[in-house]
Amino acid sequence: MLIGSHVSMKAPNFVLGSVQEALSYGANALMIYTGAPQNTRRQELDKLKIEQAQELMKEHHIPLEQMIVHAPYIINLANTVKPETYELAVEFLQKEIVRVRATGAKYVVLHPGSHVKAGENVGLDQIVKGLDTALEHNDDVYIALETMAGKGSELGYTFEQLKYIIDHCKHAKMLRVCMDTCHMHDAGYDVANFDALLDHFDEVVGLDRLVCIHLNDTKNERGAKKDRHANLGHGKLGFQTLCEIANNPRVEHVVKILETPWIDGKAPYKEEIDMLQTKTLGV
Ligand code: FE
Ligand code: FE
Ligand code: ZN
Repeated sequence: MLIGSHVSMKAPNFVLGSVQEALSYGANALMIYTGAPQNTRRQELDKLKIEQAQELMKEHHIPLEQMIVHAPYIINLANTVKPETYELAVEFLQKEIVRVRATGAKYVVLHPGSHVKAGENVGLDQIVKGLDTALEHNDDVYIALETMAGKGSELGYTFEQLKYIIDHCKHAKMLRVCMDTCHMHDAGYDVANFDALLDHFDEVVGLDRLVCIHLNDTKNERGAKKDRHANLGHGKLGFQTLCEIANNPRVEHVVKILETPWIDGKAPYKEEIDMLQTKTLGV
């Protein structure tokens, strides 16, 4: 099972610290933000202890593909209302690709964007335009569009919308998809029926595009369009469903990442990874 969680990336050990944190959870995968997820300020590359991080991963037989990067969620490629927001998003993404390449990671997970009342089609076309620009001169870092809950004016809450972006982007070969179980449920998909969901995804997008699954329970009813993550077994999806997804042979090669909430100021990831591997609900 390729399983890990979101981990921190902070001074003084940066990426090395991220890998150490992942190992402390018994993980063989990890997801980092290259800085604070809510802003676009970033540390100099040479301070990130990338080489030491890669060495530690190698020692533990963790391929670089199992380190996922998540772009900050404030960047919005779909914005046509404020040109400066769109410009910032494109510029940030271009620099992020350079940073990700330096870390050796292959995949950047990206929230496609929100149309901020301009309309879905306008927003989708703006995302395509942004990706066309951001992905120029790049043939080794893939952007994995995340399936969204459809909160507010979020785009990418249907497989068809992701397919539209992929089909219209000049650099479609550099696009991949990251599923989020909480988001898909909140968007209205029947996540419990995961094999049928995979069939549907395969028909619309193609299973070969799937590179990451964010494995989260959800606090909301199906179709609520809310996006509130819950700990495994403490939400509407339930442990059985999430455990079956983690162990589904059709997505065996796909990295699973936990983004479940901390409990009493403590990361729950060691326990949750253990639960998935042993297929038993913890206390
Ligand atoms: Fe995300
Ligand atoms: Fe997610
Ligand atoms: Zn979410």
